[in-house]
Amino acid sequence: MTTSKTIVQKYGGSSVADIRKIRAVAAQVKARRDQGHRLCVVVSAMGKTTDELLQLAAQVAKAPPRRELDMLLTTGERASAALLAMALHDVGVDAISFTGSQAGIITNATHAGARVLEVRPYRVQDELDGGRVVVLAGFQGVSYAKEITTLGRGGSDTTAVALAAALDADCEIYSDVDGVWTSDPRVVPEATRIEALTHEEMQELAAAGAKVLNAQAVQFAKAKGIAIFALQTGLAAGNGTVVRKDAPAPVGGVRGVAHKNLLHRLVANDLTRLPAMLDFLARHQLPTGPVIAYAAGMGPIERRYQAHDARVEILVPPEDAHGFRRICAENIPEGARFWDGADVGAVSLVGQGILDDPRLLADSLRLLAAEKIDVDGISTSSFRVTFLVRADPEGAGSVGAVARLLHRRFVKAERAEPP
Ligand code: ADP
Ligand code: ASP
Ligand code: MG
Repeated sequence: MTTSKTIVQKYGGSSVADIRKIRAVAAQVKARRDQGHRLCVVVSAMGKTTDELLQLAAQVAKAPPRRELDMLLTTGERASAALLAMALHDVGVDAISFTGSQAGIITNATHAGARVLEVRPYRVQDELDGGRVVVLAGFQGVSYAKEITTLGRGGSDTTAVALAAALDADCEIYSDVDGVWTSDPRVVPEATRIEALTHEEMQELAAAGAKVLNAQAVQFAKAKGIAIFALQTGLAAGNGTVVRKDAPAPVGGVRGVAHKNLLHRLVANDLTRLPAMLDFLARHQLPTGPVIAYAAGMGPIERRYQAHDARVEILVPPEDAHGFRRICAENIPEGARFWDGADVGAVSLVGQGILDDPRLLADSLRLLAAEKIDVDGISTSSFRVTFLVRADPEGAGSVGAVARLLHRRFVKAERAEPP
């Protein structure tokens, strides 16, 4: 058989949400295979299956062990992989499905947020060499101790990138949007599609809440030097976004705006508590976001660290912090408090060299002040400026409203009309 190119395609949950959609994906895969390519197809769980499984777990136990959660959640992807392989057989395409473990995806042992350590894709390669389409259950791997792990919410993207790197293949991520936009198009109507952006920009956007691509997946692609094509299921390739090493700098310095609605925080007014707080998160395999800490005043360090205006906060990304509230209720380290975060969100401006001109930060603070938006904190990196805002879901200060405000002021469209 002709083997012009190896392509890894990934289809997200909304693309395989029901049987009709799985059949449509099978047709799309067949069309590509018929062009003579070797295809490895990664799938997510159908629709909202992962959320439903998490709800089941919450009903059966107050504190489901994370290992058992991983055993449960991986079944979602396993079901859609088997169904897609069957649908491919049905249209005359020889296909075989694999779990992450069968495909040789080796991870560390951190349940619900495992890192891919290496890929041993021998079985996948053998099947591709035999002319089969390989369908892979996304979002999962196996540790050296043979424990089943998951890669964090949105982790099927990581499976696709890891396989693409291991197979030296192109990587296409299909979802319900035709690429990466300057902001979530469901929230910011003026957003437009981005043609090309760098891995660093995409990683910052993803970590700041643009879930169209997973941050760990982008980090992996950057390390391996591979491009990611973000595309819409059912549309011809070529109409999406490419994430790659070089991309023209954004007009005006801001590539896009991302937001997150909920943030959990671990808070203390004593910097000496920080090591115990970090140990606590590690012991419970909880994800750790940015750490914000300061100690004011003069005098000996010990006294300043414990002064009442010293403050330490660890932001905890909520999507993989299963059971965080309960774990905190029972085991929180002395001197630390759990902050539910239902009322706090984060809005980030992202772009290469965003702080080259400090007036951007000054202007955005003036704009937020003029709109009476309560800014709770600011954090910056060379690619990102993040505002922690009080999330009043109805009012002008809602996280979405702040995203729209900052987008209108700072994102300059690459092209006039939305796609
Ligand atoms: P999948 O289930 O296919 O993995 P996701 O739901 O994870 O897809 O990601 C696609 C969704 O990401 C879109 O429906 C969109 O609402 C949201 N999204 C958030 N930020 C962005 C952005 N900057 N560009 C495009 N989509 C975005
Ligand atoms: N099914 C998993 C999730 O909902 C993984 C994925 O979709 O990538 O997060
Ligand atoms: Mg996703």
